[in-house]
Amino acid sequence: MPARITLLNETAAALAPEARKLFDRFFDFAMSEARVLPPKAMEGWIAGAFKYLAPTAEGVLEAIRRQPIVHVVNRITGQATLFNAIRSQRPIEAKDEGDLAKEIEAAKPKCSFCKPLELTPANTFGRIGETKTCANVAAYDGYHGLVIFEDHSPLRFRRDEFAPAEIADLLATSQAWAEKAHAEDPQARFFFLMWNCLWKAGASIIHGHAQMTVGRKFHYGKVERLRRDALAYAAQYGSNYFDDFVKVHEALGLAVRYGSVAAVAHLTPAKEREIVLVAERFESPDLPRALHRALKVYARQDVKSYNLAFYMPPLGAPDPEWKGFPCLVHLVDRGDPAAKTADVGAMEMYASAVVSADPFQLAEAMKENS
Ligand SMILES: [Zn+2]
Repeated sequence: MPARITLLNETAAALAPEARKLFDRFFDFAMSEARVLPPKAMEGWIAGAFKYLAPTAEGVLEAIRRQPIVHVVNRITGQATLFNAIRSQRPIEAKDEGDLAKEIEAAKPKCSFCKPLELTPANTFGRIGETKTCANVAAYDGYHGLVIFEDHSPLRFRRDEFAPAEIADLLATSQAWAEKAHAEDPQARFFFLMWNCLWKAGASIIHGHAQMTVGRKFHYGKVERLRRDALAYAAQYGSNYFDDFVKVHEALGLAVRYGSVAAVAHLTPAKEREIVLVAERFESPDLPRALHRALKVYARQDVKSYNLAFYMPPLGAPDPEWKGFPCLVHLVDRGDPAAKTADVGAMEMYASAVVSADPFQLAEAMKENS
Protein backbone atom coordinates (compact mmCIF):
# COMPACT_ATOMS: atom_id res chain seq x y z
CA MET A 1 0.00 0.00 0.00
CA PRO A 2 1.47 3.39 -0.92
CA ALA A 3 2.24 5.83 1.90
CA ARG A 4 -0.59 8.25 2.60
CA ILE A 5 -1.08 11.02 5.12
CA THR A 6 -3.75 8.90 6.83
CA LEU A 7 -1.08 6.22 7.36
CA LEU A 8 1.40 8.62 8.98
CA ASN A 9 1.30 6.55 12.16
CA GLU A 10 2.45 3.42 10.32
CA THR A 11 5.00 5.30 8.21
CA ALA A 12 6.54 6.87 11.32
CA ALA A 13 6.54 3.51 13.12
CA ALA A 14 8.46 1.91 10.23
CA LEU A 15 11.30 4.46 10.38
CA ALA A 16 14.77 3.32 11.45
CA PRO A 17 15.55 4.40 15.06
CA GLU A 18 17.73 7.41 14.09
CA ALA A 19 15.13 8.67 11.61
CA ARG A 20 12.34 8.11 14.13
CA LYS A 21 14.24 10.19 16.66
CA LEU A 22 14.54 13.01 14.15
CA PHE A 23 10.87 12.67 13.19
CA ASP A 24 9.78 12.94 16.83
CA ARG A 25 12.04 15.95 17.30
CA PHE A 26 10.45 17.70 14.31
CA PHE A 27 6.84 16.61 14.29
CA ASP A 28 3.91 15.70 16.42
CA PHE A 29 0.61 14.52 15.01
CA ALA A 30 -2.89 13.64 16.10
CA MET A 31 -5.30 11.34 14.30
CA SER A 32 -9.01 11.97 14.65
CA GLU A 33 -12.16 10.72 13.07
CA ALA A 34 -14.88 13.18 12.13
CA ARG A 35 -18.27 11.47 12.50
CA VAL A 36 -20.77 12.87 10.03
CA LEU A 37 -24.37 11.68 10.05
CA PRO A 38 -26.25 12.71 6.89
CA PRO A 39 -30.06 12.50 6.82
CA LYS A 40 -31.75 10.28 4.21
CA ALA A 41 -32.57 13.25 1.99
CA MET A 42 -28.87 14.05 1.58
CA GLU A 43 -27.75 10.55 0.65
CA GLY A 44 -28.36 10.83 -3.10
CA TRP A 45 -26.47 14.09 -3.36
CA ILE A 46 -23.54 12.74 -1.31
CA ALA A 47 -23.30 9.57 -3.41
CA GLY A 48 -22.96 11.76 -6.52
CA ALA A 49 -20.74 14.52 -5.18
CA PHE A 50 -18.23 12.13 -3.60
CA LYS A 51 -18.50 9.23 -6.03
CA TYR A 52 -14.69 9.03 -6.33
CA LEU A 53 -14.53 7.70 -2.76
CA ALA A 54 -15.96 4.21 -3.41
CA PRO A 55 -17.48 2.11 -6.19
CA THR A 56 -20.90 1.88 -4.50
CA ALA A 57 -23.25 4.48 -3.04
CA GLU A 58 -23.17 2.71 0.34
CA GLY A 59 -19.36 2.75 0.23
CA VAL A 60 -19.38 6.49 -0.42
CA LEU A 61 -21.81 7.10 2.44
CA GLU A 62 -19.68 5.04 4.81
CA ALA A 63 -16.58 7.05 3.82
CA ILE A 64 -18.48 10.27 4.57
CA ARG A 65 -19.79 8.99 7.90
CA ARG A 66 -16.24 8.37 9.17
CA GLN A 67 -13.67 10.85 7.92
CA PRO A 68 -10.05 10.48 9.02
CA ILE A 69 -8.40 13.77 10.01
CA VAL A 70 -4.64 14.11 10.47
CA HIS A 71 -3.27 17.13 12.34
CA VAL A 72 0.49 17.61 12.00
CA VAL A 73 2.64 20.23 13.70
CA ASN A 74 6.28 21.14 13.22
CA ARG A 75 7.40 21.31 16.85
CA ILE A 76 10.33 23.62 16.06
CA THR A 77 8.47 26.29 14.07
CA GLY A 78 4.83 25.79 15.07
CA GLN A 79 3.77 25.39 11.41
CA ALA A 80 0.71 23.16 11.51
CA THR A 81 -1.71 21.58 9.06
CA LEU A 82 -5.02 19.75 9.26
CA PHE A 83 -5.49 17.17 6.52
CA ASN A 84 -8.84 15.77 5.54
CA ALA A 85 -8.27 12.60 3.55
CA ILE A 86 -11.77 12.61 2.05
CA ARG A 87 -10.98 15.75 0.18
CA SER A 88 -7.52 14.54 -0.80
CA GLN A 89 -8.89 11.54 -2.67
CA ARG A 90 -10.64 13.67 -5.24
CA PRO A 91 -9.09 12.67 -8.58
CA ILE A 92 -7.19 15.28 -10.53
CA GLU A 93 -9.37 16.02 -13.53
CA ALA A 94 -7.52 18.16 -16.00
CA LYS A 95 -10.12 20.81 -16.72
CA ASP A 96 -10.28 22.62 -20.00
CA GLU A 97 -8.13 25.71 -19.96
CA GLY A 98 -10.37 27.25 -22.63
CA ASP A 99 -12.31 29.86 -20.66
CA LEU A 100 -9.31 30.83 -18.58
CA ALA A 101 -7.11 31.14 -21.67
CA LYS A 102 -9.80 33.33 -23.28
CA GLU A 103 -9.97 35.56 -20.21
CA ILE A 104 -6.18 35.92 -20.20
CA GLU A 105 -6.14 36.74 -23.91
CA ALA A 106 -8.99 39.24 -23.51
CA ALA A 107 -6.88 41.28 -21.06
CA LYS A 108 -4.13 41.73 -23.64
CA PRO A 109 -5.28 44.87 -25.52
CA LYS A 110 -5.37 46.88 -22.28
CA CYS A 111 -2.36 45.17 -20.65
CA SER A 112 0.14 47.70 -19.30
CA PHE A 113 2.80 45.00 -18.88
CA CYS A 114 2.73 44.36 -22.62
CA LYS A 115 3.97 47.97 -23.02
CA PRO A 116 6.22 48.42 -19.97
CA LEU A 117 8.07 51.55 -21.15
CA GLU A 118 4.85 53.45 -21.79
CA LEU A 119 2.63 52.10 -19.07
CA THR A 120 4.74 51.08 -16.05
CA PRO A 121 6.76 53.28 -13.67
CA ALA A 122 10.53 52.89 -13.21
CA ASN A 123 12.57 52.58 -10.02
CA THR A 124 15.00 55.39 -9.11
CA PHE A 125 17.90 53.37 -10.51
CA GLY A 126 16.10 52.64 -13.78
CA ARG A 127 15.17 49.28 -15.25
CA ILE A 128 17.09 46.05 -15.67
CA GLY A 129 17.45 44.83 -19.24
CA GLU A 130 15.70 47.99 -20.49
CA THR A 131 12.18 46.61 -20.21
CA LYS A 132 12.41 43.60 -17.88
CA THR A 133 11.63 45.38 -14.61
CA CYS A 134 9.48 48.21 -13.35
CA ALA A 135 8.50 49.76 -10.04
CA ASN A 136 5.24 48.68 -8.44
CA VAL A 137 2.81 51.56 -8.89
CA ALA A 138 1.50 51.06 -5.33
CA ALA A 139 4.59 49.98 -3.41
CA TYR A 140 4.44 48.11 -0.13
CA ASP A 141 8.06 48.59 0.85
CA GLY A 142 10.73 51.21 0.19
CA TYR A 143 12.09 49.20 -2.71
CA HIS A 144 9.42 47.35 -4.60
CA GLY A 145 9.73 46.23 -8.19
CA LEU A 146 8.39 43.73 -10.67
CA VAL A 147 9.98 41.44 -13.20
CA ILE A 148 7.70 41.46 -16.22
CA PHE A 149 7.74 38.17 -18.12
CA GLU A 150 8.06 38.24 -21.87
CA ASP A 151 4.94 36.15 -22.36
CA HIS A 152 1.61 37.82 -21.53
CA SER A 153 0.12 34.51 -20.36
CA PRO A 154 0.98 33.51 -16.78
CA LEU A 155 0.14 29.92 -17.81
CA ARG A 156 3.32 29.71 -19.85
CA PHE A 157 4.77 27.34 -17.20
CA ARG A 158 2.27 24.74 -18.45
CA ARG A 159 3.52 24.89 -22.05
CA ASP A 160 6.17 22.54 -23.47
CA GLU A 161 8.32 25.45 -24.66
CA PHE A 162 8.72 26.80 -21.10
CA ALA A 163 12.45 26.36 -20.38
CA PRO A 164 14.78 26.45 -17.33
CA ALA A 165 16.68 29.28 -19.04
CA GLU A 166 13.63 31.52 -18.45
CA ILE A 167 13.85 30.87 -14.72
CA ALA A 168 17.62 31.50 -14.79
CA ASP A 169 16.92 34.82 -16.51
CA LEU A 170 14.28 35.74 -13.93
CA LEU A 171 16.67 35.01 -11.05
CA ALA A 172 19.53 36.96 -12.65
CA THR A 173 17.24 39.91 -13.46
CA SER A 174 15.78 40.07 -9.97
CA GLN A 175 19.22 39.79 -8.40
CA ALA A 176 20.56 42.62 -10.57
CA TRP A 177 17.55 44.71 -9.49
CA ALA A 178 18.12 43.93 -5.81
CA GLU A 179 21.84 44.75 -6.07
CA LYS A 180 20.95 48.16 -7.55
CA ALA A 181 18.61 48.87 -4.66
CA HIS A 182 21.24 47.74 -2.17
CA ALA A 183 23.92 49.89 -3.86
CA GLU A 184 21.62 52.92 -3.63
CA ASP A 185 20.83 52.26 0.02
CA PRO A 186 23.29 49.91 1.77
CA GLN A 187 20.82 49.50 4.64
CA ALA A 188 18.33 47.90 2.27
CA ARG A 189 19.57 44.30 2.57
CA PHE A 190 16.57 42.03 2.82
CA PHE A 191 15.77 40.85 -0.68
CA PHE A 192 12.44 39.07 -1.09
CA LEU A 193 11.43 37.56 -4.44
CA MET A 194 7.91 36.27 -5.03
CA TRP A 195 5.54 35.36 -7.82
CA ASN A 196 1.76 35.47 -7.55
CA CYS A 197 0.26 33.63 -10.51
CA LEU A 198 -3.29 34.78 -11.33
CA TRP A 199 -5.92 36.42 -9.16
CA LYS A 200 -6.50 33.44 -6.87
CA ALA A 201 -2.90 33.92 -5.76
CA GLY A 202 -3.33 37.67 -5.22
CA ALA A 203 -2.13 39.00 -8.57
CA SER A 204 -4.02 42.07 -9.77
CA ILE A 205 -2.43 42.07 -13.24
CA ILE A 206 -2.91 38.98 -15.39
CA HIS A 207 0.33 39.33 -17.40
CA GLY A 208 2.95 36.98 -15.90
CA HIS A 209 5.22 38.80 -13.44
CA ALA A 210 7.27 38.30 -10.31
CA GLN A 211 7.60 40.83 -7.51
CA MET A 212 10.60 41.80 -5.47
CA THR A 213 11.28 43.98 -2.49
CA VAL A 214 14.36 44.92 -0.52
CA GLY A 215 13.56 45.68 3.10
CA ARG A 216 15.56 47.72 5.60
CA LYS A 217 16.78 46.98 9.12
CA PHE A 218 15.15 43.55 9.54
CA HIS A 219 13.57 40.89 7.37
CA TYR A 220 9.84 40.14 7.03
CA GLY A 221 8.29 38.58 10.10
CA LYS A 222 7.87 35.04 8.78
CA VAL A 223 11.42 34.85 7.45
CA GLU A 224 12.83 36.27 10.68
CA ARG A 225 10.72 33.81 12.71
CA LEU A 226 12.22 30.89 10.79
CA ARG A 227 15.75 32.27 11.19
CA ARG A 228 15.28 32.46 14.97
CA ASP A 229 13.74 28.98 15.13
CA ALA A 230 16.65 27.58 13.11
CA LEU A 231 19.17 29.29 15.43
CA ALA A 232 17.42 27.89 18.51
CA TYR A 233 17.40 24.46 16.88
CA ALA A 234 21.16 24.64 16.14
CA ALA A 235 21.84 25.73 19.73
CA GLN A 236 19.76 22.90 21.22
CA TYR A 237 20.70 20.02 18.93
CA GLY A 238 24.06 21.10 17.47
CA SER A 239 22.76 20.47 13.98
CA ASN A 240 21.60 22.61 11.04
CA TYR A 241 17.80 22.93 11.02
CA PHE A 242 17.50 22.96 7.23
CA ASP A 243 19.74 19.91 6.71
CA ASP A 244 17.61 18.02 9.21
CA PHE A 245 14.38 19.38 7.68
CA VAL A 246 15.42 17.77 4.38
CA LYS A 247 16.64 14.61 6.14
CA VAL A 248 13.38 14.01 7.98
CA HIS A 249 11.36 14.50 4.79
CA GLU A 250 13.77 12.16 2.95
CA ALA A 251 13.27 9.47 5.59
CA LEU A 252 9.50 9.72 5.10
CA GLY A 253 9.83 9.45 1.31
CA LEU A 254 8.76 13.09 0.92
CA ALA A 255 11.90 14.46 -0.74
CA VAL A 256 13.65 14.20 -4.08
CA ARG A 257 16.88 15.70 -5.39
CA TYR A 258 16.90 17.94 -8.41
CA GLY A 259 20.69 18.03 -8.82
CA SER A 260 22.17 19.64 -5.71
CA VAL A 261 18.76 21.08 -4.74
CA ALA A 262 16.47 19.15 -2.40
CA ALA A 263 12.76 19.31 -3.20
CA VAL A 264 10.41 18.53 -0.33
CA ALA A 265 6.70 17.75 -0.35
CA HIS A 266 6.11 19.67 2.87
CA LEU A 267 4.56 17.68 5.72
CA THR A 268 3.13 20.89 7.24
CA PRO A 269 2.15 22.77 4.09
CA ALA A 270 0.83 26.34 4.22
CA LYS A 271 -1.88 25.32 1.75
CA GLU A 272 -2.39 22.82 -1.09
CA ARG A 273 0.58 20.98 -2.65
CA GLU A 274 3.33 22.96 -1.00
CA ILE A 275 6.80 22.19 -2.36
CA VAL A 276 9.87 23.59 -0.61
CA LEU A 277 13.15 23.72 -2.53
CA VAL A 278 16.28 23.88 -0.39
CA ALA A 279 19.33 25.18 -2.28
CA GLU A 280 22.67 26.07 -0.78
CA ARG A 281 22.26 29.63 -2.04
CA PHE A 282 20.26 31.81 -4.44
CA GLU A 283 23.08 31.56 -7.01
CA SER A 284 23.17 27.72 -6.92
CA PRO A 285 23.54 26.67 -10.58
CA ASP A 286 20.98 23.86 -10.17
CA LEU A 287 18.26 26.14 -8.79
CA PRO A 288 16.67 27.29 -12.09
CA ARG A 289 16.30 23.70 -13.32
CA ALA A 290 14.95 22.56 -9.93
CA LEU A 291 12.34 25.31 -9.92
CA HIS A 292 11.45 24.50 -13.50
CA ARG A 293 10.87 20.86 -12.53
CA ALA A 294 8.73 21.84 -9.57
CA LEU A 295 6.59 24.02 -11.85
CA LYS A 296 6.26 21.13 -14.28
CA VAL A 297 5.01 18.96 -11.40
CA TYR A 298 2.41 21.68 -10.79
CA ALA A 299 1.48 21.72 -14.48
CA ARG A 300 0.92 17.96 -14.44
CA GLN A 301 -1.21 18.30 -11.32
CA ASP A 302 -3.32 20.84 -13.24
CA VAL A 303 -2.28 23.74 -10.99
CA LYS A 304 -3.10 27.07 -12.59
CA SER A 305 -2.71 29.60 -9.80
CA TYR A 306 0.12 29.54 -7.28
CA ASN A 307 2.37 31.58 -5.01
CA LEU A 308 6.10 31.29 -5.02
CA ALA A 309 8.43 32.91 -2.47
CA PHE A 310 12.17 32.91 -1.84
CA TYR A 311 13.78 33.07 1.61
CA MET A 312 17.50 33.83 1.70
CA PRO A 313 20.18 35.56 3.79
CA PRO A 314 20.61 39.32 3.33
CA LEU A 315 22.51 41.03 0.53
CA GLY A 316 26.04 42.30 1.05
CA ALA A 317 28.82 40.84 3.17
CA PRO A 318 28.00 37.48 4.84
CA ASP A 319 26.07 38.15 8.04
CA PRO A 320 27.02 35.79 10.93
CA GLU A 321 23.44 36.10 12.23
CA TRP A 322 22.33 34.21 9.12
CA LYS A 323 25.01 31.50 9.17
CA GLY A 324 23.66 28.19 7.88
CA PHE A 325 20.51 29.75 6.39
CA PRO A 326 20.14 28.42 2.83
CA CYS A 327 17.96 29.62 -0.04
CA LEU A 328 14.43 28.27 0.31
CA VAL A 329 11.81 28.45 -2.40
CA HIS A 330 8.20 27.86 -1.37
CA LEU A 331 5.54 26.99 -3.95
CA VAL A 332 1.89 26.61 -3.09
CA ASP A 333 -1.21 25.84 -5.16
CA ARG A 334 -3.99 28.40 -4.70
CA GLY A 335 -6.79 26.48 -6.34
CA ASP A 336 -9.06 26.77 -9.33
CA PRO A 337 -9.30 30.31 -10.76
CA ALA A 338 -12.92 29.55 -11.67
CA ALA A 339 -13.87 29.02 -8.00
CA LYS A 340 -15.41 32.06 -6.34
CA THR A 341 -14.48 31.22 -2.77
CA ALA A 342 -11.15 32.24 -1.29
CA ASP A 343 -9.05 29.27 -0.25
CA VAL A 344 -8.11 30.86 3.06
CA GLY A 345 -10.47 31.74 5.87
CA ALA A 346 -10.28 32.37 9.59
CA MET A 347 -8.63 28.97 10.11
CA GLU A 348 -5.68 29.81 7.87
CA MET A 349 -5.38 33.42 9.04
CA TYR A 350 -5.43 32.65 12.74
CA ALA A 351 -5.28 28.92 13.50
CA SER A 352 -3.92 26.30 11.13
CA ALA A 353 -3.73 25.46 7.46
CA VAL A 354 -6.56 23.20 6.27
CA VAL A 355 -5.33 21.12 3.37
CA SER A 356 -6.84 18.51 1.05
CA ALA A 357 -3.84 17.47 -1.04
CA ASP A 358 -1.81 14.58 0.37
CA PRO A 359 1.95 15.34 0.56
CA PHE A 360 2.72 11.66 -0.02
CA GLN A 361 0.82 11.75 -3.32
CA LEU A 362 2.60 14.99 -4.24
CA ALA A 363 5.94 13.29 -3.51
CA GLU A 364 5.01 10.49 -5.92
CA ALA A 365 4.37 13.07 -8.63
CA MET A 366 7.69 14.74 -7.83
CA LYS A 367 9.54 11.41 -8.10
CA GLU A 368 8.06 10.75 -11.54
CA ASN A 369 9.65 13.99 -12.64
CA SER A 370 13.01 13.75 -10.84
ZN1 LIG B 1 0.35 41.58 -21.16
